[in-house]
Amino acid sequence: MPELPEVETLRRGLEAAVVGRRVCSVALFGERTVRRQDPAQLVAALSGRLVSGAARWGKYLVVPLGGGAGDEGGEALVVHLRMSGQLLHVGAGAPLAHHTRAVIGLDDGSELRFVDPRTFGELFVADALEASGRPSALAALGPDPLVDGIDADRLAALAKRRRCALKTLLLDQKVLAGIGNIYADEILFRAGLRPARAACSLAPVEHGRLVAAIGEVLAAAVAARGSTLSDARYLDLGGAPGSYQEHHAVYARTGAPCLGCGTPVTRVRVAGRSAHFCRSCQA
Ligand SMILES: [Zn+2]
Repeated sequence: MPELPEVETLRRGLEAAVVGRRVCSVALFGERTVRRQDPAQLVAALSGRLVSGAARWGKYLVVPLGGGAGDEGGEALVVHLRMSGQLLHVGAGAPLAHHTRAVIGLDDGSELRFVDPRTFGELFVADALEASGRPSALAALGPDPLVDGIDADRLAALAKRRRCALKTLLLDQKVLAGIGNIYADEILFRAGLRPARAACSLAPVEHGRLVAAIGEVLAAAVAARGSTLSDARYLDLGGAPGSYQEHHAVYARTGAPCLGCGTPVTRVRVAGRSAHFCRSCQA
């Protein structure tokens, strides 16, 4: 499932190649991808609009729309890839991939295509953007570590009185938006903290280490254009894979030597999710 670094890579791709283009046509295939609103309403809301920006909160892409009848802005196309969604920018006439759910034609002849075999992903046009630019539909999301920033005091306040495991805390999108299974494991390794530790058990120095690890791991993963696993589900807007998977220290490395100390990486279940960690480097 694409997480913050993968979605940020797509956002940067949109900013470089799609912002400033106008939507000429919208075609939808299947019934699952647009489910928060009438699909005809989404088509009407998108058609003829200018792609006026590219933002992201957590794992959601938010594409502000301008050039509407009478108003400028105030609406945005929201894209959530969920398990298996891909957003691709292709030239006119590129063969239609299997499982294509939406094709948005642009005024230079190129197309934005949403491909999603498992159909958990979704598209919707949100209105009533907050002053921050965040749609009110995403109001329940916690702070995004890159967009909003996070410091040790704020993290301590979020973790205090939470008896859940640290990994569960990091995966809770209402606490912090954007971190999923891969980066939670990598962040906790970098911070030297075990995934099953109770969130409320951290000492102040550990809050500091965790905040630093969140920033460092996410920044490095964005620089590497995200992680593409062996299923090759995540590709950037141009269809190229990321390379951060080459730097994973613990994720999906069960039994392989820890890069820090050589101890075999351990896999456990934490609140129903798998978690990978080093018994020697993480406490
Ligand atoms: Zn180790």
